[in-house]
Amino acid sequence: MVDYKHQQDVDVLILGGGTSGVGAAVAASRSGANTLLVERYGFLGGVANVGLCLHTFHSSNGERVVAGLPWEMIQRMKALGGSTGPVWIENAHMKTTTPIDVEVMKYVTQEMVLESGGKLLYHTLPLEVVMEDNRIAGVVLLTKDGKMLVRAKVVIDCTGDGDIATWSGVPYEKGRDSDKKMQRMSLVFKMGNVDVPRMFNEIGKGGAWAPLPDGGESYPVWWSATLERYADIAMQEGLFLGTDEFWGNTVHKGETNINASRLQGLDGTNSFDLTVGEVEGKRQVFKLAEVLRKYVPGFEGSYIQATAPFIGVRETRRMEGEYQLTASDCVSGRKFEDGIAKVGYPIDIHDPSSGKTLFTPIGGEDGSYDIPYRCLLPKNVEGLLLAGRCISTTHEAMASTRTMITGMMVGEAAGTAAALAIRNGTSVRAVDANELREQLRKRGAHLDMGPVPGSEKERQATQP
Ligand SMILES: Cc1cc2nc3c(=O)[nH]c(=O)nc-3n(C[C@H](O)[C@H](O)[C@H](O)COP(=O)(O)OP(=O)(O)OC[C@H]3O[C@@H](n4cnc5c(N)ncnc54)[C@H](O)[C@@H]3O)c2cc1C
Repeated sequence: MVDYKHQQDVDVLILGGGTSGVGAAVAASRSGANTLLVERYGFLGGVANVGLCLHTFHSSNGERVVAGLPWEMIQRMKALGGSTGPVWIENAHMKTTTPIDVEVMKYVTQEMVLESGGKLLYHTLPLEVVMEDNRIAGVVLLTKDGKMLVRAKVVIDCTGDGDIATWSGVPYEKGRDSDKKMQRMSLVFKMGNVDVPRMFNEIGKGGAWAPLPDGGESYPVWWSATLERYADIAMQEGLFLGTDEFWGNTVHKGETNINASRLQGLDGTNSFDLTVGEVEGKRQVFKLAEVLRKYVPGFEGSYIQATAPFIGVRETRRMEGEYQLTASDCVSGRKFEDGIAKVGYPIDIHDPSSGKTLFTPIGGEDGSYDIPYRCLLPKNVEGLLLAGRCISTTHEAMASTRTMITGMMVGEAAGTAAALAIRNGTSVRAVDANELREQLRKRGAHLDMGPVPGSEKERQATQP
């Protein structure tokens, strides 16, 4: 083996610091494992940083079914004025969402990892995996100071794209069955000096009005909108949206994030395609901002405050695991004996061909389904767990599991399972699902039928 200048041994090595990586790191460290979280940028949160609301703490019946780490994170963010908490939405594809200030999220997630005893390594990329037969024994990282080998008892892939799992030899699928096309990408952006209520009255479709964290004023903190009325202008101005609906959110007066651009036919695991996405995304953003400013009341004096730090990629590799979650599991609200997270978010497909967004609600008795632990266990490779967007699902099921609160719950389960395996001296594949579920419950996760006990009162307090 190469003698690396820099080497270290850890119990749990996590690659990728999105919501799933944060969940995994906090859970593993709090469970007593020596944990290192590696991230290529200088902040945590992953795609949350592009300017989105966190979907969703609630089932399709409107009952809160998520507790555990995501709930803890949002309480901490609220205390710092960085979130409204879950807000109720009229006329939309889900009952609630949770607007956030991404700067507060970056800070709170970093502090949660560090307080748990986890170590962070920013500005570092994985370069190659180190395999011992079919077990991943570590990862060689590329730091500013050269290569570094980190050996680990368990590795958790939270890169969203399943980079580490792919390099280790885990098989994967991409795109929908019919033509392998993946959901489109979007470059989210933030506009300042917007009269958001006026804009909402003009083009709003569905919205959540709630008191702003820093002023108490009732404001459209999440909205969907349409430029249907401006179709001729959009055509004349050469504005491409591909569909008539787009979304926005804010927790601060006078500004709004906007999720509208559509980049189709690109692969988020190909750097050339990612570059096209960034370039074309900025073109779409500048064109849309110009049209909004010129024609839509509320945007007259507005300006682009920021484009997202990176293009938003909805779908890439779905790794093959011991169980592949299906659309029918989701929409029927199926429960599993090894369920590690409860999800009420609908199947939300940004159709790769038509550009339309298609929603299918979650049914079943309590409007939520379970993600089984087996979706985190990759085929062929030992010592590795999957969390976040790349877990084992079909194209359709991924369109529900991919959201940020779900990613954090799955990360929490992966981190807890890793620590449990190390403590018991077993492989992650041999972790007993009942024991894992018991540990998760002790940590505050909700895995049982129906709402989180006591959460009914929240609804009465916050629903308009
Ligand atoms: C445009 C868009 C809008 C969306 N809207 C919503 C929404 O409103 N609400 C919602 O809940 N969800 C939304 N989603 C889905 C959701 O944001 C993502 O699916 C989710 O954040 C994925 O979480 P993750 O932890 O798996 O991955 P990510 O958030 O992608 O995190 C992966 C992390 O790993 C790092 N990383 C990746 N590869 C490497 C590597 N090789 N080496 C080192 N680090 C690496 C990345 O920098 C990143 O920090 C949206 C997604 C997109 C793209």
